[in-house]
Amino acid sequence: MDGTLDKAPLSRAERHPEKAHRPDNPIPRKPDWIRVRAPNSPEYAETKRLMRQYGLATVCEEAACPNIGECWKQKHATFMIMGETCTRACAFCNVATGKPGALNPHEPANIAEAVGKLGLGHVVVTSVDRDDLDDGGAGHFAAVINALHQSAPKTTVEVLTPDFMRKPGAIETVVAARPDVFNHNLETVPRLYPTIRPGARYFTSLRLLSRVKEIDAAMFTKSGLMVGLGETREEILQVMDDLRAADVDFLTIGQYLQPTPKHAALDRFWTPAEFSELAAHARAKGFLMVSSSPLTRSSYHAGDDFARLRAARAAQLKT
Ligand code: SF4
Repeated sequence: MDGTLDKAPLSRAERHPEKAHRPDNPIPRKPDWIRVRAPNSPEYAETKRLMRQYGLATVCEEAACPNIGECWKQKHATFMIMGETCTRACAFCNVATGKPGALNPHEPANIAEAVGKLGLGHVVVTSVDRDDLDDGGAGHFAAVINALHQSAPKTTVEVLTPDFMRKPGAIETVVAARPDVFNHNLETVPRLYPTIRPGARYFTSLRLLSRVKEIDAAMFTKSGLMVGLGETREEILQVMDDLRAADVDFLTIGQYLQPTPKHAALDRFWTPAEFSELAAHARAKGFLMVSSSPLTRSSYHAGDDFARLRAARAAQLKT
């Protein structure tokens, strides 16, 4: 064990220096259906203690996820590997931007040990973008997956990766480590990429997802969208078609929540009924699994959803 994250939290300006000059976008009041409980259970405190003990970062904390009270009560944490500093500066994301440090070679073993202590049957591993590394961090993802397979062979592993843009061989490296689910989020509709994901390309992300299936047709693929950034219903339906053309199995759709006044302005809150309607469209388009609700996040209820995903494929194969 070699903890590295026991340090003072960064200020807002330190976390997002590239956003400091932007005008403030007032944060709208959340509607009733977005309200969540304060995280104060003993299990939440124990999960937090374990993360600090092993020097591990979680996207639950770094992205200020609204579900942290509920998820950590069940000891479901989503690990964020390769540091807490991202080389991209997406307009929606609360993860700090800057120049990341060196990789921690102890991180795969630390995660494997923490997963054992948490008793997780399904684990989600994501990362910051590491455009500074020759392989975009693919080798480190593979090392974490291998460590988990070795120490907890019954625990299923889901990865939520960056796009590995301009890193030849990166996708192949991660697939070769055999995660059970390969997730990569499109996040938003192509029209909004230049403002919301300026460092990313819609078709690069889509291509990543179809490439995973080309390499291993049996691997489950998953992608996610946020709504509330100014996209239209028709644009979302088109993205669903694009994802089905890439043979993606599982779609998640959740409400964008603006982390600070410097982040992308929240356009509107989609209602629970609209989320249900999007789910019905997605199911009709052929996704094996759909999770669509205001508080849906890629890793929300990921273990239960993975069991359903497997059951859905088994049922499909029988017909
Ligand atoms: S939804 Fe995902 S990111 Fe949010 S608290 Fe739960 S596990 Fe963490």
